[in-house]
Amino acid sequence: MNIHEYQAKGLLREFGVPVPDGYPVLKAEDAEAAARQLRGPVWVVKSQIHAGGRGKGSFKEAEAGEKGGVRLAKSVDEATAFVRQMLGHTLVTVQTGPAGKQVNRLYIEDGSAIDREFYLSMLVDRETSRIAFVVSTEGGMNIEDVAHDTPEKIKTFSIDPATGIMPLHGRTVAEALGLSGDLAKQTEALVTKLYAAFTAKDMAMLEINPLITTKDGRLRCLDAKISFDDNALYRHPELFNLRDETEEDAKEIEASKYDLAYIALDGTIGCMVNGAGLAMATLDIIQLYGESPANFLDVGGGATEEKVTAAFKIITADPKVKGILVNIFGGIMKCDVIARGVIAAVKAVGLQVPLVVRLEGTNVEEGKEIIRSSGLNVIPADDLDDAAQKIVAAVRKG
Ligand code: ADP
Ligand code: MG
Repeated sequence: MNIHEYQAKGLLREFGVPVPDGYPVLKAEDAEAAARQLRGPVWVVKSQIHAGGRGKGSFKEAEAGEKGGVRLAKSVDEATAFVRQMLGHTLVTVQTGPAGKQVNRLYIEDGSAIDREFYLSMLVDRETSRIAFVVSTEGGMNIEDVAHDTPEKIKTFSIDPATGIMPLHGRTVAEALGLSGDLAKQTEALVTKLYAAFTAKDMAMLEINPLITTKDGRLRCLDAKISFDDNALYRHPELFNLRDETEEDAKEIEASKYDLAYIALDGTIGCMVNGAGLAMATLDIIQLYGESPANFLDVGGGATEEKVTAAFKIITADPKVKGILVNIFGGIMKCDVIARGVIAAVKAVGLQVPLVVRLEGTNVEEGKEIIRSSGLNVIPADDLDDAAQKIVAAVRKG
């Protein structure tokens, strides 16, 4: 789960991490009161969307003005005007894709007098099974570009969970950033607090870009991006209300209600499968025969007829889907249950696109018979190869 910058900063503030003061604004009429609570003389008005690159982004609508998604204002009036311009409009950044994202929330914060900008992130490194720090002197830039052009400017190290964070780690960061004296002390304190926040909240990723030093010698986090480990969310009911469903794929939300794993992709073939391994194989073989998957929906091991029906409705609701491949191995889950679910769903939602069904495993003959005798226009397949070829051919013909 991802959250907005202002929420991330609120959470880091609880751990004593230095972030500028600021107030979120959801309605234009609240903008002035929010701006008045800050001292000035510079206010920063920041679009809140789950994507980076906002500063360099641009709005689709002319009314939103020519500036990007992060704007410096010199007065309360100007800050208020920026909120009115941006709210409700679509911001396109390198991370949103060409469709952009609608800005429904803004954040007004204290402007900082920036001296230097750095990069700092933390993530769970699967290779070492540890929490890793990634730091660079090249702040405010896209870190992928830095890694590509000047990899020597990135320093990475990880924390041994047996010892946890130690003063040495803070010193390593300070050294990598070229900070000494009091700023090095502030860096040590910051690193300790960030690690505490990261572990306490079961984060998967925390990115501060930029981390800055101010002209008056203070260290501050000017941007903050956090994703949490979804598998640990149940331990943090306090995080549930930070979820912004308007930022998520509507079909993924619908799928999660039925405990189905749905992943939206870019192609044309909708895939209903069970188990991650079979999902991978299905996606691969579709590509092998020259088409690409529109999504995959994993119904899991213990799906019911109701779940299969819900899954089918989610897949057919996607206008990108030009054909559907159901590929199920009935182990725990029986093929006749799947077949009944598919038939019930087809009857409920209708079938506008070709459907290929490949069943294998427990009660496979019963399952096939249910599909054959349904009288519906379902294309049966015997194995994975056959199924992939049939759906690719059907999509190309249609
Ligand atoms: P994004 O990464 O989405 O572009 P940031 O929050 O990093 O958004 O803001 C972009 C740039 O705007 C920063 O690199 C920084 O130079 C400037 N900026 C952001 N917040 C402030 C602030 N509170 N005071 C001064 N400058 C800021
Ligand atoms: Mg940033």
